[in-house]
Order: sequence, then C-alpha cells, then structure tokens
Amino acid sequence: MNQETLLQIEKEYKSPVYVYNANKIEEQYNRLTSAFSKIKKLKINYAAKALTNISILKFINKLGAGLDTVSIQEVKLGLHAGFKAENIIYTPNGVSLDEIEEVVKLKVQINIDSLYMLEQFGSKHPTTPVCIRINPHIMAGGNTNISVGHIDSKFGISIHQIPLLIRIVKNTKMIINGIHMHTGSDILDIDVFMRASEILFDVAIQFKGLEFIDFGSGFKVAYKEKGLETNIEELGEKLSKRFKKFCKNYGKELTLIFEPGKFLVSESGYFLSRVNAIKQTTSTVFAQLDTGFNHLIRPMLYNSDHRIENISNPKGKKRFYSVVGYICETDTFANNKQICEINEGDILAFKNAGAYCFMMASNYNSRFRPAEVICYNGRTQLIRKREAFEDLIYNQTLINL
Ligand SMILES: *Cc1c(COP(=O)(O)O)cnc(C)c1O
Repeated sequence: MNQETLLQIEKEYKSPVYVYNANKIEEQYNRLTSAFSKIKKLKINYAAKALTNISILKFINKLGAGLDTVSIQEVKLGLHAGFKAENIIYTPNGVSLDEIEEVVKLKVQINIDSLYMLEQFGSKHPTTPVCIRINPHIMAGGNTNISVGHIDSKFGISIHQIPLLIRIVKNTKMIINGIHMHTGSDILDIDVFMRASEILFDVAIQFKGLEFIDFGSGFKVAYKEKGLETNIEELGEKLSKRFKKFCKNYGKELTLIFEPGKFLVSESGYFLSRVNAIKQTTSTVFAQLDTGFNHLIRPMLYNSDHRIENISNPKGKKRFYSVVGYICETDTFANNKQICEINEGDILAFKNAGAYCFMMASNYNSRFRPAEVICYNGRTQLIRKREAFEDLIYNQTLINL
C-alpha cells in the first residue's frame, strides 16, 4: 500500500492502528492455489490464529479457503464468520477431552496429536473419523520457538510410536481419515520439506481409509527487503508430482491440504504508530512511539525484524534509530535501524504486521488495544474499534472489602 493511503487512514482512524490490504491476501491465496493447480483435490485451510478478525475470516472464506483452528473459540469464530463446519479442521494441543467432544458436536473434523488422547477418544467415539498429527522430527528452520517438528517438541505423535498408534486404532476400531504434520514456521529448504513429506507418506500408506493428507504450513515470508521466502512455485512443482504418485500407489485420489497463516496474511498488514518524542542519549537516538509490546510483541518475543518506514518523511535523509515503545519496561522494536529522518509527530509504518501481531496484543499498562482497518479495491473500512475505558473494566467487579 502506498504512503499517502496509509497516512490518510491514520488521519481518519488515528494511531495506533492495524491496516490490512485484502487484495494482498487474495493475491497470496491465488499464488498458492496456482502453484498447486495440478492437484485435483486441493484445500487451503487458513490458520485462524494468525489473524481472527471476523471480517478477515469472512473474506478468506469467500476466497474459497477452509479454516484451521486450534481452540473451540476459533472454531466458533469461524462458524460465526460463515465457514461451514465441514471446512474446518480443529488441531488442538494439550486440550481436554471435554473440549474435543464439544468440537465433535459442532461437526468439525478433529486432529489428535497424542496417543493418550487418541486412546481415550477412540474408546468413547469409535465411529467419529479422526485425523492424526504426526511429528516427523524434522527441523524446519533454526529457531526452536517456532520449530515444532523436532524431537523435543510437544507437538504431534512421534513417528517412532507408529506401532503403538496402529495397535490403538485396531483395538478401538476407530477410523483414521487423515494424516497431518506441521513442522513449524520456517520452511526455506524445499528438500527438507520433501523429506518430511516422505515420512508422512510412509505413515499414510499404513492406513486404508484416508481421505486427506494435511502438510501443515511453515511457509516463510520475507521480512527484510530482499529477505528470503519459501519458493512456493518450486514446492508446488515437486510436491504435486510426488503427491500424485502417492495417490496412484494408494489407489485413491486424496485431498491435499495446506494450512498457511503467515503466508496468507503477514504481508497484508501494516501497523501505524505515531512518534511521541525523540530522545537523544549518550549512545543512541530513540524514537519513542505511541505503542509498545502490548500491541506488537513479535520483536521482543521472537526477535523478529519488521521493516519500519517513516511514511511522514519518505524522502528524508536516512539516520540510525532505536525504535522503542511507551511501556514501562524495555520494549524495543528495533535497534540501529536506518530510517528516514524522524521528527515528533511522524507516522511510522511497521510492515509484515498481518500475522501474529494484533492477535497477541494485550492491555498491559492498561492501554487500549488498537483499531483494525481493512482495504479492498481502494475502499477502506473499520473492522474493529479501538478499545475504550469501559473495555478495561468490562469484566471486573468493584467490591467493598
Ligand atoms: C500456527 C499453525 C499453522 C500456521 O503456521 P504459519 O507459520 O503461520 O503458516 C498451521 N498449522 C498449525 C497446526 C498451526 O498451529
């Protein structure tokens, strides 16, 4: 999105504000489906946890996607936004049997990721088809916070436990209709992904009643200028070929599922914030914003490096800044960042602010969570109001002690 549009949006809705370019979401969706156009039964299930604003969900549903959810609340948001139950998959981790049973009542496909839960569920509900989440123990990417396929990960059923898994399925007579993996958030090396897929195929061939194989996500998007991203086209080429061969061997045309979060929404998002003050110290120049890690925690939590542009002075001379928030503890967005000269009152735009940004916002320091705005075909609309004081006290009771 261009700077004038973003500035106009800030003028109307004030900062801090999240802005989503729906055309970009559409473009990413089309790019992914094109890369896999040779697959007859392809399903893109958007990973809701990246960004669950109900207008975004509704838009993504309209594009033709299904939904990947990790909690019953996400399932309910999806249904509320118009997704059909049959197009939702529920992939929880460490939840109670009660919650899984409630989701089953909503007629949503469940994906189970522990043998303990599989045995309990299968004993009680042998006729409900279940997908199983396999952990192929492949490291996709180096950051252990976001790699969920490795040996120490809490996610999935280990490939080393397949014999026990098969015994549980036999004993309970339950139906396994899908095989799933999700190796984490950093697939760069297509060959590593293909290796994990081979492991999945080896497991899949052992189950006769499959309807789908779900390859999860972990597509990397570029954060820096000329940063590295997953080569979706290459993956499409290689995996489609291999998948078709598997189906032929299996004797049935299965559905190929992906569940991208970041890939669909990350680049669509911009986070706009105003510069409260410039503070020069002996060691650096701080740009202090009207926001903090209460609104955008990824730099502090994951060391993620978001591009930051001064949209109020895009032609200004570049200088080095430490960009920080207004929270009363260290909340650094970036150190030593080259940004066009910043003055008080300027608006800075954080890029890649679509995925896992607003979703992790909190009321820490008793600040309001930001507004959210969507743009589609040049039209801008508010999809979430900024919070107000009433929201801070909404669920509280003021009592006399
Ligand atoms: C978070 C998650 C995703 C989405 O991951 P991205 O890196 O955002 O694409 C997909 N599947 C499952 C099970 C997840 O938990």
